[in-house]
Amino acid sequence: MQQESIQVLLVEDSLTDAQLFEHVFFRAATGDWKLVHAKRLSEAINYCCTQSFDLALLDLRLPDSEGLATVSRLHQVIPDIPIIILTVSDDEELALEAMAQGAQDYLVKDQVTIQLLRRSIRYAMERSQILQQLKNREREALQALDRERELNQLKSYFVSMVSHEFRNPLSALRVLSEVLLHYDSNLTAQKKETYSQQINTTVNHMCQLLDEVILLGKVDTGNFEIELRPLHLKEFCEELITSFQYSDENQHSIILDCQQDLHPIEMDADLLRHILANLISNALKYSPSGSEVRVEVSFLNDQVTFCIRDRGIGIPETEQHRLFETFSRCSNVGKIQGTGLGLAIVKRCVDLYTGEISIESQVGIGTNVTVLLPVGDSALR
Ligand code: ATP
Ligand code: MG
Repeated sequence: MQQESIQVLLVEDSLTDAQLFEHVFFRAATGDWKLVHAKRLSEAINYCCTQSFDLALLDLRLPDSEGLATVSRLHQVIPDIPIIILTVSDDEELALEAMAQGAQDYLVKDQVTIQLLRRSIRYAMERSQILQQLKNREREALQALDRERELNQLKSYFVSMVSHEFRNPLSALRVLSEVLLHYDSNLTAQKKETYSQQINTTVNHMCQLLDEVILLGKVDTGNFEIELRPLHLKEFCEELITSFQYSDENQHSIILDCQQDLHPIEMDADLLRHILANLISNALKYSPSGSEVRVEVSFLNDQVTFCIRDRGIGIPETEQHRLFETFSRCSNVGKIQGTGLGLAIVKRCVDLYTGEISIESQVGIGTNVTVLLPVGDSALR
């Protein structure tokens, strides 16, 4: 056996047996072997709670525990440590039952020799290591299976959602292109422009949906990496809001309240766009036209805080806990369309950024979403 350090717990109530055993044990030692002696099971359990052992040698008949219960009680406290049963010659049957309860081996006390003890300790430790590896592999395989099951479920959700979400716009595109193809000469220039714009909007919507599905897939499979680049946050927000004002056809007034940013800060613009665009889109979509949507941006130390406030339909309190789940939509949306992916994406992006998100909302009053993101290198921690 190699020179190794082994901590052994000997649980034996008879002092004579323990002394005899210690004698053989130290002669069998091939390295730094240490023996801690406990006379009762309770004493042994106390030792196990305060120090770690590589192996336990256990007498089954102790003043405070008798028979098989002794093994199972100790095994519960040290499930990963091999236990060798110490038995007397007429107790071998009990020792075999103890092995079925989790003990690794047994030794008959008056037959223990140096070689036997060495071999038994070595085998018990090797077997226990192999068992431990098997247990770890089984646990990893089960986790992988669970993850695979979740991914498969998500994939089939995606397939049904994407096919459902794409069927309507695709048929609209087919009708529009057929009209343009076959009735071109009958159409006024204004009609043609309207149809082209509809085609454009529909294609943009489909591309956006695909982008989000791809992003979710990348984040879920761990294939997304943050890329920090200098960003003028105020300009970035102004551009984003201008594009929303355009697509919203100025039905809402979108107010940006952002402290002057003279210096660019290190951020991942793509990730930030996904976060803000989804939150602003929700604020607009779920609030009546004519109302105000505020986007407030503030800096403090290494953090930037975004607060998106609307005075819309609000989110029922009992449904707020599942807002970040994919495809989750609230009961008060009525005819307002959506896939229930936006906030799931926002949450994953904020998590990637090691940021925080919180939502305060009251039905009929409005919703405030606050996102805290670290700036610069602290985003990568
Ligand atoms: P999409 O995938 O197109 O964004 P969606 O808007 O339905 O669809 P989420 O953005 O994930 O999906 O939002 C989930 C649900 O949370 C919405 O369906 C809506 O019920 C509720 N919700 C989100 N933001 C608001 C808001 N600002 N005001 C009211 N309800 C909201
Ligand atoms: Mg949304």
